[in-house]
Amino acid sequence: MRAPDQKGELRMTPISDGPKEDHSARIERAVRNYSKLEGMRKAFQTNVESQDANKAKIEGFEERRDRARETRRRALADDSLFAQAISRLRGNGIRVVVADTGEEARRVVLEEIGDEKLVVKSKSNVTKEIGLTPYLESKGIEVIETDAGDRIVQIAKERTVHPTGPALHLTRYDIARILSNHFGRKIEPDPDRLTEAIRNEVSSYISKASVGITGANFISAEEGAVVIVHNEGNITACARRPKKHIIVSAREKIVPNLDEAMNLAKLQILYGTGSLNSSYIDVVSAPSRTADIEKKMFYGMHGPKEVVLVLVDNGRSSIVDKEVMYCINCGSCLLKCPVYDVMGTEFGGHAYQGGRGACYAAELEGIEEGLDGGLTYCTNCGLCTEMCPVKIDTPRLMKEARRKGIEAGLLPTRGQAEMNGNLRAAGNPWGESAEERSRWADGLGIPKKGRVLYFAGCFPSLRSSAVPKAAIEVLRAGGLDVAYLGPEEGCCGSPVLKMGDIETFKELAKGNLKRIKGAGAEKVITGCAGCFNMLSSYRQYLPHSDLKVEHLSKTIADLVRDGKIKLRRSDVSITYHDPCDLGRHQGVYDEPRSVLKAIPGADLREMRFNRERSICCGAGAGVKKTHPELARFIAGRRIDAALDTGAGLLVSACAFCEENFRDAMESSPRRIEVVDLAVLVRDLMEK
Ligand code: SF4
Ligand code: SF4
Repeated sequence: MRAPDQKGELRMTPISDGPKEDHSARIERAVRNYSKLEGMRKAFQTNVESQDANKAKIEGFEERRDRARETRRRALADDSLFAQAISRLRGNGIRVVVADTGEEARRVVLEEIGDEKLVVKSKSNVTKEIGLTPYLESKGIEVIETDAGDRIVQIAKERTVHPTGPALHLTRYDIARILSNHFGRKIEPDPDRLTEAIRNEVSSYISKASVGITGANFISAEEGAVVIVHNEGNITACARRPKKHIIVSAREKIVPNLDEAMNLAKLQILYGTGSLNSSYIDVVSAPSRTADIEKKMFYGMHGPKEVVLVLVDNGRSSIVDKEVMYCINCGSCLLKCPVYDVMGTEFGGHAYQGGRGACYAAELEGIEEGLDGGLTYCTNCGLCTEMCPVKIDTPRLMKEARRKGIEAGLLPTRGQAEMNGNLRAAGNPWGESAEERSRWADGLGIPKKGRVLYFAGCFPSLRSSAVPKAAIEVLRAGGLDVAYLGPEEGCCGSPVLKMGDIETFKELAKGNLKRIKGAGAEKVITGCAGCFNMLSSYRQYLPHSDLKVEHLSKTIADLVRDGKIKLRRSDVSITYHDPCDLGRHQGVYDEPRSVLKAIPGADLREMRFNRERSICCGAGAGVKKTHPELARFIAGRRIDAALDTGAGLLVSACAFCEENFRDAMESSPRRIEVVDLAVLVRDLMEK
């Protein structure tokens, strides 16, 4: 973690300046201005479609992803690689300066620039992280971004929405207005005219500048070379300024060799832009030189006399959990993130966007910055991991960052604290009595002990009692007599774990395990997606847990397959929402669908994003409690997707998702009937 006296330094970028705004005001503004990010969403969608089309053209695609992740893991675990990279780079004639802090890095760059009053610069997240541009400007140096998108956001004083598409949120009309103001003449809102205007301006600066600043996509330790990937050609131009090429980068860019760098570059290009290739991949391993006359070395022939690499640490070496640094900054995790879709750049740190960005901000700049970047917005849905070339487990990083927030006394939020207190005191989030919890089972005569136990879960028991009742009816109709803990059942611990309160989670989990075993259960069936995910995950946290857990959708699918339950005809069109806890987190996709397909006459229509790519309802991981408006708004987007299928019924297997959908529809004219899988099956069973 960064030392307190350096924190203020980082806040010198204009983006993170100013008083922190209340989260609910930010969310309200984002919701109100949702349509303003339509351009970004369209561009993101194009990227996803191009990714999908081009993945199939890359041989051994999944192996490449695994290899890339392993490269990142090994490189970050091996300090000798850092030493090797520096030694080889220096051997090649590149001057390497290691800067411990952002402040030091800025000072080094200023000294390297010397008397120059103009520098041209290309995309670099590390320079954003250390606030380089505002610092240099404060010293009287003009800094010109040379990437077209970056130059637009620089002129507009906007934040970058995506690492490879900084200005994707702006329409041609926005850009025409911005550039017309900037140039003092009218520029038509025509993409060609606008791009030409940027090109002409940037080119004039490039031709005048003697020093260029770039970032690095990768640094190869074996060859001592810097790899820079780009499309516009601007980076080559910056890197060829006659006097000096200053590269500002960080240790996580170091990889063992150029082979691994190229594998990572290939993935970065695909995930960053959807393309198979970039226009350029520059490999810089020395200053420009020639020895054509009498073997006398001359530096600065057609490129810079000097190349300087500033390697910024800025707290990285003290990061224990290195996974947050596996990132290759492709931005793919942003494309379908339900929170980024609404919040845009309000979700993330000032240099790195989205959930991973907020986690990285928490590591580099302190937990307050992470919280300011929206650590509490994330629903832990896991779609970012699915979309990430190196499969960064952002939900896990989030839990860890939130745990640190609790340690620092900054979390839980007020709503979460109240819930945690209720969980500890009463075993459910609302603090209701044990008798109330089990009231749904009154009169059903369910035994308390048995080989197979039904685990109802807090939410179905106390807020959606039709679901557990239906489950028992269905199980009994299929010939399965299950036991139920009744008032003894406690919360599975899912909400507290996702909010980072691991200690409370463990207490709850241990209590549950003891009571489940005490009931003589060999197997647990639950219809709650969150409980299913959590009970299945107990073994990760409690070494002696050997709980066998099955989701009700599988039990029903088996009963239907074996003819123990028969379903009546229903000419209904259905769409199915995959709850994140059931689908992405536990891989249960087919079973609920097989039940729905078994309904004679039913027409199952998939939403555009389904199964592994399903979009979260928005409620999970404490978001519904802390940011209810955000949760509802995200649910509204999912309802839109359901309505787009033309289906009349939205089925899910998570009572919590279902409630969030219903809440969202209360304030929206866009409506669809929402039903739980168990209730639907109960209603359609032949009796
Ligand atoms: S887990 Fe879901 S909500 Fe959180 S950052 Fe990832 S995609 Fe976004
Ligand atoms: S977390 Fe993964 S998907 Fe997101 S920018 Fe980093 S590498 Fe790309």
